[in-house]
Amino acid sequence: MTRCHRSLIVLAVFVSCVLAGCASTPASPPSENAGVRALAPGVFLLRGDYAPPRQPDGNSVVFEGPDGLLVVDTGRHAAHARRLLELAAARGKPVQAVLNTHWHLDHIGNNPALRAAFPRLEVHASAAIDGALVGFLADYRRQLQAQLAGGGDAAARADWQAEIARIDAGAALRPDRVVQADAERMLAGRPRRIGHAADAVTAGDLWLWDAASGVLAAGDLVTLPAPFFDTACPRRWSAELARIEDVPFTTLVPGHGAPMDRDGFRTYRRAFGQLLACADGTAPAADCISGWQRDAAPLLPDPAQAALARDLLAYYFQAVLRGPRAGRHCPVDGSA
Ligand SMILES: [Zn+2]
Repeated sequence: MTRCHRSLIVLAVFVSCVLAGCASTPASPPSENAGVRALAPGVFLLRGDYAPPRQPDGNSVVFEGPDGLLVVDTGRHAAHARRLLELAAARGKPVQAVLNTHWHLDHIGNNPALRAAFPRLEVHASAAIDGALVGFLADYRRQLQAQLAGGGDAAARADWQAEIARIDAGAALRPDRVVQADAERMLAGRPRRIGHAADAVTAGDLWLWDAASGVLAAGDLVTLPAPFFDTACPRRWSAELARIEDVPFTTLVPGHGAPMDRDGFRTYRRAFGQLLACADGTAPAADCISGWQRDAAPLLPDPAQAALARDLLAYYFQAVLRGPRAGRHCPVDGSA
């Protein structure tokens, strides 16, 4: 059993298996600097890094405004922050605003590094991190400490210690401007539409649509090779995908994986709905998982990704979709 498979404890560790230890790295598209790809004039994608066996970074989307940059999600590792800073230097503009789609560490971990480089920047996010810091992330920190006490090789120990340091950044991870509902905000000098979803992937998720470019940054509401259900309310999540389809975007950037067009998103949404319907029925989990692989096949051209989706979903069926944590992150009022 590999280290990553021993670590199916909590999301942040589990995702390290998903995106670092068990996945192949897709070919990099042409870029202006390492890992950066222009999606539209003034819109850049920094793909989340895959560096086995280290933990992943989520995708970052950078929107250039007249006098500065908006960064949607900051990644986790220092190398990801460095690439964002290099991009800012290449464009000759400061980062004026950060929008975090959700509080998972692969999306907010570099907030402190960007704040240090650009002290005037403002972070916009939902308030859900407050609950996470005393709940999920506090539990995760205890598990990391237990892992450290249990040994591990030098590289693993360094990763665990870095992860604890990220959590201990606390206030520097939190938003300066809380987004509690759908909003239109001027970010980096341009109006941007922000969608807010309560109890979807986390207790508070955001997505951002830039009308000028047609680019929508979806965070982990769209995630490949399979949805990550660790902190999710699946039915609320499904409802949010329906709302996103109503937005006239042309390019959607998922939290992990390659950008997709509208057809790609429809494929994802249909596969997601079929997966939940199957999970609610009596079919064997293996059949539901094969269904996902079949339905999402156009989005999973790499056989290694399809295989990884199978392993992930096997875990989620057992632990979440048909397991003891089913409905745990859904509202208690039954509205899910
Ligand atoms: Zn993520």
